[in-house]
Amino acid sequence: MLMSLEKTVTELVGSDRVSTSYLERIAYSHDLAPIPHNIARLFNSVPDIIVNPQSLDKVAGIMKVANKFQVPVTPRGAATWGYGGAVPTMGGILLDLRGLNKIVSFDEARGLLTVQCGAVWKDIIDFLEKTSWELPVYPSSAPSSTVGGFAATGGLGYGSLEYGSLVDNVESINAILPTGEKMMVDPNSDWVTPRQLFGSEGTLCIFGELTLRLVPRRSSAAPFLAYFHQLSNAVEVANELARKTRPFSLILRAFGFVRAREGALLSPEDAESGAIIFGHYAATPHQVEESLNRFARMVTD
Ligand SMILES: Cc1cc2nc3c(=O)[nH]c(=O)nc-3n(C[C@H](O)[C@H](O)[C@H](O)COP(=O)(O)OP(=O)(O)OC[C@H]3O[C@@H](n4cnc5c(N)ncnc54)[C@H](O)[C@@H]3O)c2cc1C
Repeated sequence: MLMSLEKTVTELVGSDRVSTSYLERIAYSHDLAPIPHNIARLFNSVPDIIVNPQSLDKVAGIMKVANKFQVPVTPRGAATWGYGGAVPTMGGILLDLRGLNKIVSFDEARGLLTVQCGAVWKDIIDFLEKTSWELPVYPSSAPSSTVGGFAATGGLGYGSLEYGSLVDNVESINAILPTGEKMMVDPNSDWVTPRQLFGSEGTLCIFGELTLRLVPRRSSAAPFLAYFHQLSNAVEVANELARKTRPFSLILRAFGFVRAREGALLSPEDAESGAIIFGHYAATPHQVEESLNRFARMVTD
């Protein structure tokens, strides 16, 4: 069955887009984080075949082949999620979507950008650099993660305190269903809406292309940082900052957590050994200055 599957997929996408090499299959059997040994034994996380399609039509074709052969398909972006979503549990086809990385169209007058799912956020940010528009929301893993991976995991990141999830900023989605049918989905669609597909972790559809609503480029930005002796105070101020000043990014680092990551044991003492909050505001120069003043007042109060 596997040889026949490989032959059919190869006929569809070309031999340079398919791999059954054992080493490559092992490389695709985990994501950014290693799977704990005991859990790994419960699943077959090594895919049987890796496919690297270059168009939405090929993705749709692969889904049809998978249906015919009754094999599972695991979509994968840059594998930065770290919770195993891009890792197979029953072998099958591993769909590496990073080849679908094109900017399809840019409507500069309306601030609409259509991108393929494998596009990396940083490349989109660089593309928009020369325009008067920018992204309202993107993940802090922007240097490597993909648009499809962010949509499939819920889409909350930088900018979300002000603009919500990526789904609140999506005009439409060109989705590929498990049957291999392609479907345009927008907030007014009858059958299914973007909100129902978002966060589905590759189970309900392949996000093929997304049309993103951009926001006018903000003219000013400024960072902020504050240290707190007690974690509880940092949490309180961070909540207040999020509610009242809506920073573009806001990060809280507890030193106990930092130490735990470095291998030391986390004790209640560590958790209370201080924290920093940092981030940045992005808006007009006047708004940024006002936010920084409010930040200074909240921190010193
Ligand atoms: C330093 C760092 C910072 C991070 N910051 C954030 C953050 O700010 N916000 C946040 O939410 N996460 C964050 N993450 C987690 C992760 O980077 C994001 O969730 C990212 O959006 C995942 O994208 P990816 O391309 O790596 O997806 P993958 O890890 O490859 O896949 C994630 C899931 O999406 C599915 N999938 C991938 N592509 C598609 C597609 N086209 N269609 C359907 N399903 C698909 C996969 O099957 C899997 O279930 C961070 C991670 C790191 C390491």
